[in-house]
Amino acid sequence: MTTARQPDPSVPGPQRRLLVWRDSSHFNQWQDKPCVLCDRPTPLRSHKGEAVHKVCAEDWNAAHPTEVRFVSDAEPKSRGKRDHA
Ligand SMILES: [Zn+2]
Repeated sequence: MTTARQPDPSVPGPQRRLLVWRDSSHFNQWQDKPCVLCDRPTPLRSHKGEAVHKVCAEDWNAAHPTEVRFVSDAEPKSRGKRDHA
C-alpha cells in the first residue's frame, strides 16, 4: 500500500532546502504582517512581498516541490573581480 499520499506538513530530510534571504528587502522592520501560511505576525517578506516566515516558506517549498513561490536570493556572482587586494 504505497499509493496513499498523505500531506506531511513537516517534511524533514533532503527535500527541504533552506532559503537564503540575506537581502534587507526581505525584512520589513516597520511592519509586522500576518504570515500567509501560519497567520502569526512576521516582519519577513518574500520576493513577491508576501508576509511569510522563512521557515514557513521552507515548509511550503518542501510540501510543493514542483511549484516556485518562495525563492532564495540570487547568489552574487564574483564577476569583474579585477582588484586582487
Ligand atoms: Zn509563518
